[in-house]
Amino acid sequence: MGRLGIGTLLLALGLAWIVPARAQEPARQEPVQQETVRVVATFSILGDLVRQVGGSRVAVTTLVGPNGDAHSFVPAPADAQAVAAARLVVVNGLGFEGWIDRLIKASGTKAKVVVAAKGIVPIEEDDDGHGPDHGHSHAADPHAWQNVANTRTYVANIRDGLASADPEGRAAYQANATAYLAQLDALDAEVRKAVAGIPEARRRIVTTHDAFGYFARAYGLRFVAPQGVSSQSEATARDVAAIVRQVRRDRIPAVFLENISDPRLMQQIAREGGAKAGGRVFSDALSEPGGPAPTYLEMMRHNVREFVAALGG
Ligand code: ZN
Repeated sequence: MGRLGIGTLLLALGLAWIVPARAQEPARQEPVQQETVRVVATFSILGDLVRQVGGSRVAVTTLVGPNGDAHSFVPAPADAQAVAAARLVVVNGLGFEGWIDRLIKASGTKAKVVVAAKGIVPIEEDDDGHGPDHGHSHAADPHAWQNVANTRTYVANIRDGLASADPEGRAAYQANATAYLAQLDALDAEVRKAVAGIPEARRRIVTTHDAFGYFARAYGLRFVAPQGVSSQSEATARDVAAIVRQVRRDRIPAVFLENISDPRLMQQIAREGGAKAGGRVFSDALSEPGGPAPTYLEMMRHNVREFVAALGG
């Protein structure tokens, strides 16, 4: 690895972040008591949602851990073992986990599989100038959880999947889901209120990793793709120069990179573009426990705080 994928570059109006792509931790397995339902969730955000709904009845193993990049994840034998031992596997769907079908098949698991994004109307990724090697190679934008309304659907699908895998727990899952959905409603209202406080002219973010498309559409931020940048190849000097030009031309106040382990590139773009390097937001993974975004609710609140701090409000 160690590639500086331009597809993982993120430039934001007054925003900045680095989510280390390679800080993937080994699959985390919680102690399993008797009768506990073993659930595998493909990545950390889903893992949190499963814990919220499953409560004490479930033991959740997360394949792509905090700060991990599910796009570039390569399953290890331990992951196949976790899937094999699971009663339920929860995946995002929408092409997010390109490796999951093979993993499930190779594991020989009898687990039920829940697609959390089932029922969501996906945003089709644009192909203007990026072509087939645009960051995610699938037509649908998989980052649906960035709209809290979609996360309601995730929670409902997880609740139903858990009840199907563990019928005795149905009432508990129902109660947990209902309580959590109320928290999502409060979160959604908070996000709307926060974005409403950003001056309309500044509600603009430049990004190449299209992780916030659902957020943009739901909450009224506009995302502008940098020009002249291909996404899967390494960041060439020409790519960097194109980004720098756009940062200067659009007077982007701060530059942010996502999932890039080498902060020097960000610093170079910020320096040459006359922008500053700012905070850190989370798109595809939670932070480590004790970090700024250890749960979905905290992740969304943290990101919105960063948006508001950078864009003004
Ligand atoms: Zn992503």
